[in-house]
Amino acid sequence: MPQQEGSHLQTPHMRTEAHTPAYWAMTLEELTAKLHSRQRALGLLRWLWHRPPTLPQTLELPPHLEAVGHRWLSLLQPHMPPLLPEVLQRLQAEDGTCKALLGLGEARVEAVYIPQRGRNTLCLSCQYGCTRRCVFCATASMGFMRHLKAEEMLAQFFLLRWVRPEVAVRNVVFMGMGEPMDNLEEVLRAVQILTQPGGPCLRAQKVTVSTSGILPGMQRFLEESQASLALSLNATTEEQRNRLMPQNRLWPMGELLALLRRYGKLQPKREHFVSYLMLKGLNDSEEDAVRLAHLLKGIPVRLNLIPFNAHEGSPFEAPSIEKLKGFWQNLKAAGVRCLVRWPKGQEVAAACGQLAGGASTRRGQKLAASAEAKT
Ligand code: SF4
Repeated sequence: MPQQEGSHLQTPHMRTEAHTPAYWAMTLEELTAKLHSRQRALGLLRWLWHRPPTLPQTLELPPHLEAVGHRWLSLLQPHMPPLLPEVLQRLQAEDGTCKALLGLGEARVEAVYIPQRGRNTLCLSCQYGCTRRCVFCATASMGFMRHLKAEEMLAQFFLLRWVRPEVAVRNVVFMGMGEPMDNLEEVLRAVQILTQPGGPCLRAQKVTVSTSGILPGMQRFLEESQASLALSLNATTEEQRNRLMPQNRLWPMGELLALLRRYGKLQPKREHFVSYLMLKGLNDSEEDAVRLAHLLKGIPVRLNLIPFNAHEGSPFEAPSIEKLKGFWQNLKAAGVRCLVRWPKGQEVAAACGQLAGGASTRRGQKLAASAEAKT
């Protein structure tokens, strides 16, 4: 059901029904218990995640495998979902970025393959729609339909990793549709499977989970996961952020940054990110650059500046290249570790904040217009 008006400032408490995870979303320990052998569990994971790209890329269980006999495989039948995830549409941009629309039961979600020299990245979605209402985001215009299960996030990885088989996928970012901290249990399971032995075996630091700033979720994530966190900040005053990201009224920016500062001292070896979406005339002034440098002082994070990616119905624009450069230079001069992330896959609407599951962005238009009116 779409989210009710007015409920967007709270963390959604969804009724969680007992769910039997699909076999590809079971941890090594769970598979070992089910198959009565770690060897068999590892054999199954090898077949699943490490098969050559020339073989069919299907999540369907075969009747038997060399490493796992028919009798043992049949124990996994209750872990086969009735409908397998499928790729409904694929769009490829000139820069090689590939956006796929996936059918996950009734849900339509988008995931993006981003080619980069020697370190391809997959951007995964964690919800069908989103619980939050960031005014610049196309996903927000869909409303919220439901959380995705870990198996649905992992299916995105499985179905998209072979876009360029000669280069391994080394990075995963949970920056697609949805707010990961609102679906943390399932996101943590997906991260565990991406990083566990026998699976895709990504380094935990190479998996980045993004958040619009859900304080309790951020704290739990920092305690329970070794993956990286990316806080989407996008403003330099509370007032500015309240307008862009309504949940800031519940968990103000100052408290989010204080948490990162505290955990920077508690966990000095971890590295996190702050992303800053640059919106022309809204948060791109010299004063913003000075305030941003001040806000980040003493927090061990890297800052990613992201020029706004236009999408249908949005009145926002990216600043000029000169403005962006000036902003970046001011931050560098103030000692902030900072990169400009140039958008990829713009012509297929695959860049940050453009994913909307093919849905109309009419509501985004209204939200953005109301934010502009208040500016
Ligand atoms: S930016 Fe992220 S948290 Fe905000 S509405 Fe979009 S998907 Fe949701």
